[in-house]
Amino acid sequence: MNAIELEQLYAAHNYNPLPVVLARGEGARLWDVEGRRYIDMMSAYSAVSHGHAHPRIIAALSAQARRLAVPSRAYYSDRLGPFLEKLCKIAGLDAALPMNTGAEAVETAIKGARRWGYRVKGIARDQAKIIVAAGNFHGRTTTIIGFSSEADYRDGFGPFAPGFHSVPFGDLAAIEAAISPQTAAVLIEPIQGEGGIIVPPKGYLAGIRALCDRHHVLLITDEVQTGLGRTGAWFAFQHENIRPDGLVLGKALGGGVLPVSAFLGTRQLMDVFTPGSHGSTFGGNPLAAAVGLTALRVIEEEGLVERSRELGAHMLGRLKAIDSPAIKEVRGLGLLAGIEVESHFADARTVCEHLLARGVLSKETHDTVVRLAPPLVISRDDLDWALDRIAEVIGALERTPHPEAA
Ligand code: PMP
Repeated sequence: MNAIELEQLYAAHNYNPLPVVLARGEGARLWDVEGRRYIDMMSAYSAVSHGHAHPRIIAALSAQARRLAVPSRAYYSDRLGPFLEKLCKIAGLDAALPMNTGAEAVETAIKGARRWGYRVKGIARDQAKIIVAAGNFHGRTTTIIGFSSEADYRDGFGPFAPGFHSVPFGDLAAIEAAISPQTAAVLIEPIQGEGGIIVPPKGYLAGIRALCDRHHVLLITDEVQTGLGRTGAWFAFQHENIRPDGLVLGKALGGGVLPVSAFLGTRQLMDVFTPGSHGSTFGGNPLAAAVGLTALRVIEEEGLVERSRELGAHMLGRLKAIDSPAIKEVRGLGLLAGIEVESHFADARTVCEHLLARGVLSKETHDTVVRLAPPLVISRDDLDWALDRIAEVIGALERTPHPEAA
């Protein structure tokens, strides 16, 4: 049996991978088992912003693995404090609660927001509401999919937890209308990633900040995808010169090698967590902390935020310059972009398959959007090479419209 057949047989079919078997990665390049080379324009959904096998991250990982990996948080470690200090200083927040995956950090944010709602704001017991946006993606736990607007994510998994109120994304008036005395928090992605790289109108986040201040509601941004340089700022909230009360991070925090996530907040918010109220066996372990600290230092010392801003502007400029009826819209910020294809030319999956055949790895989100999120370390030459292939594939679509075209 080959690798694909074996995976098909023994792995649950909760993914539909593109037909390539990867074996090795370095920086923005990946190789399959036959030695064919690909440019990674996906970075594991933004988790590999540092590129594959970053030497400093691998060195920190292996040194710490030999020293001490997982003693549990029943004890202090000499690695957690320095990691969280750096993280809080970069984010401009007071304290952090380390977890592993993005969804766990979102769950942490929900627990924090609800307890703050009861203990600080004075919401009546079990009445707290959290406002979320339609089209959101915050992870796959049962609580989180309960407030997803995506039927596929929810189908067959109910009943779901109450306490969430969904409003259209990008609509400030809808948030204002949804706020009630029971509202504890607004939980929002600054740019909807899985939702299709949806960039809200300018001023949206700042507007939510003002509403939250006026109504004594927490603003919690989920920057699992947009954080840590991806959009050309350390955090997307900085584009609007605001500070959230709570911040959810994950993906790139693990340097592309481990699951490392965190919920950060103001002192008042984080102080609602008391011993025993939350935790995770692996969260904040010394191995994760050593890798996380190195991941932050690499972003800072290698100027990856500036790189994302400059290369991102270049990438978006080139994508927007592709003049083709097969493209409905190009959206994005920094090194995060979505190409929405006109469905009568092709679906996004087909575009990704054509790109794969030409040596470019990307992934569709929903039926019509090709997501591009290369490692922030990508060279300009590799980026241009991938963009040339994208232009070729789009050009070919234009000449051969989908058979079902009207
Ligand atoms: N929040 C956002 C904004 C995400 O994009 C994702 C993952 N795509 C998550 C949360 C969940 O992260 P994880 O898959 O690590 O649980």
